[in-house]
Amino acid sequence: MEKILENRIAVVTGGGRGIGRAIGAVLHAKGAKVICLDKVFPDDFESFSAGLNDNGNIFIGKSLDITNFEETQKLFDSIVKEFGRIDILINNAGITRDKLLLRMNEEDWDAVLNVNLKGSFNCTKAVVRQMASQKYGKIVNISSVVGVMGNAGQANYSASKAGLIGLTKSTAKEFASRGINVNAVAPGFVITDMTAKLTNEQRKAFLDVIPMKRGCSPEEVAEVVAFLSSDSSSYITGQVLLVDGGMVM
Ligand code: NAD
Repeated sequence: MEKILENRIAVVTGGGRGIGRAIGAVLHAKGAKVICLDKVFPDDFESFSAGLNDNGNIFIGKSLDITNFEETQKLFDSIVKEFGRIDILINNAGITRDKLLLRMNEEDWDAVLNVNLKGSFNCTKAVVRQMASQKYGKIVNISSVVGVMGNAGQANYSASKAGLIGLTKSTAKEFASRGINVNAVAPGFVITDMTAKLTNEQRKAFLDVIPMKRGCSPEEVAEVVAFLSSDSSSYITGQVLLVDGGMVM
């Protein structure tokens, strides 16, 4: 595999499992040192990361709840102290609390907005000063097709993912002249623990509107994120790349 991310320092939120872990593994395979942040790491994370810690090219996990502004600043500061810089931030951590709006309560709204949108703000805030001083940085926000098209039963989640697109474009404009590229990836239906919760009916409804007639693997998302984290995409900023098998065109 071409080492297009050799010696880059990458931080991936929600990197313990699912899409985040796949992103971490692909960035690592392309040469980056990877720090996965997560609130809860599954039991198999240790053996997974041990398998990737080779030749000083590390793949490690650090605990963080990204909704905590102060803890987030502290942890990012400690990463800069330990590794000297941060080149890549992937804002991937996210949750769902799906319900029709009539049944959605304030707690459902706050929980989702807090992790998906405020958490991404907290991590972006914690890293942009360092990236600007390096005159180099790549930020990729993991949005969703439902942030573009909306979805019944996901008003909180869709709003958070649409909000991430606004955060992406505004941050891209503010930092383009400082050497920082900020883009979003909007996956469609990806096969992970998050979508394992869907009923067969919901799964069928998704597959019916996907021209490719299949779900996406976490690695297919990760490859696109790696492209946006590399210098292969040096003149791209403020964009939303849909990885959805043609669901939205
Ligand atoms: P997942 O639930 O498998 O993984 C999400 C990870 O985020 C978990 O490891 C979880 O512990 C972590 N996390 C949750 N709250 C956190 C917090 N407060 N602080 C730190 N970490 C926290 O989900 P996934 O399917 O891998 O999704 C990853 C991202 O991709 C999410 O943002 C999701 O919205 C987005 N996405 C997923 C799909 C899909 O079909 N799976 C589609 C579009 C977008």
